[in-house]
Amino acid sequence: MNVLEIIKKLEDDIGKCAKCGLCQSVCPIFLELGRESSVARGKVALVEALSEGRIKATSTLAEKIQCCLLCKACVENCPSGVRVDHIIFKSRAIIADIRGTSSVKWLLLKIILRHQWLLNLSIRVVSTFQIILFKQTGLNNTHRSRLNIGLNRRRVVLPLARKALRDEWPEVNLSYRPKGKVVLFTGCIINYILTKTGDAVIKVLLEHGVDVVIPKDQSCCGIVAMASGDETTFKNLAKNNLKLLSNLNADAIIVACATCTSTLKHQYLSLLFNEPGEFHDMAEKVAGKTYDISDYLINILRVRKIPQKYLKSPSKKTIATYHDPCHQRCGQRGYREQRELIKMIDYVKLKEMPMPARCCGGGGSFNLSYYSLSLKIAEKRVTDIEETGADIVLTNCSGCHMQLIDVLTQRSSSIQVRHPVDLYYEALNAV
Ligand code: SF4
Ligand code: SF4
Repeated sequence: MNVLEIIKKLEDDIGKCAKCGLCQSVCPIFLELGRESSVARGKVALVEALSEGRIKATSTLAEKIQCCLLCKACVENCPSGVRVDHIIFKSRAIIADIRGTSSVKWLLLKIILRHQWLLNLSIRVVSTFQIILFKQTGLNNTHRSRLNIGLNRRRVVLPLARKALRDEWPEVNLSYRPKGKVVLFTGCIINYILTKTGDAVIKVLLEHGVDVVIPKDQSCCGIVAMASGDETTFKNLAKNNLKLLSNLNADAIIVACATCTSTLKHQYLSLLFNEPGEFHDMAEKVAGKTYDISDYLINILRVRKIPQKYLKSPSKKTIATYHDPCHQRCGQRGYREQRELIKMIDYVKLKEMPMPARCCGGGGSFNLSYYSLSLKIAEKRVTDIEETGADIVLTNCSGCHMQLIDVLTQRSSSIQVRHPVDLYYEALNAV
């Protein structure tokens, strides 16, 4: 689709905005900066001016469109149903088309991300040299960069795993008393960094009598490319995943990251393949079969309690609180199911925050471009977490996980960040 066609399509969405300003009170960026250009209404007005030729795609405009977490809080609260996320995604694609892409982004998105073997090789190389590139912080198994490699020197990161999840496990894993067969879509962070969570997901499914297929050739879900204005790479990755996942004849596609779940379940259909055709049919099939792991355990396998043999008597309850990722709470079911899973564990007490779905400020690549602003938003979230007195904060989004561990470690906090399935798996084994 060329730029003119994209602009034409945007006009329908832009025209729905009644300029009521109700999006102001929910936008994490507007609440920090207080500028009209940071809120949905202001961004919609700028894109409208661009589509009518009243302003040009300057670097200032690109910066204003870029400064958005794509958290969808505005979409959820808009009385006119404006798909602000679609407007932002598409307008970034228009601006990238007009202004071009930096050579680093071009290399990362158009070359490395599009070729899975090259992504695997690049990760292996960085993983081998990470001991030189990063030094340990001494807290939460986290690292900081030693050298100037484009990461803020304050930033705290988790190390890459020695072996990727998809290299660690065979493609087909049999439970030997099969009640079903699922495909695991790992997502990049769980494949390369949070591999223990990936292990927990696979072991829990096997323990519940479900065969697990982990396709080696799956790609990144691609939303990072779309958020960077590279719709071609997003489409390329989506097509690979759709062909692979729709052909596997499984009962369900299991995902443990809310952003990947939202991409497979909603974004392939709504952003790319919303008109009849071969890929629309595949996207519908994949969307219908995609489940967050907790959703699958509670609603399909009907897990209601942990068998008595697995329960250990608690000497002291662990206090946990739950951070709902924006991509889970906005437009997806599943946040109740995460809690149901945790409430089954007798030695964990769940203590809710007043605003469990307050944005953590991560926003995928947003925190690479706007690190200081991202930290300001995250500080509020981490204060909420600390005020609960929790030992653990749970979340089911890999991006939120990385953001929370960064800020907690910078504050020398001992609060751990875990996935609910990590705890559920530990409880199953706590004999
Ligand atoms: S985006 Fe929605 S909430 Fe915001 S000004 Fe427009 S109509 Fe109102
Ligand atoms: S998606 Fe989030 S950050 Fe972006 S304009 Fe909407 S509320 Fe603000």
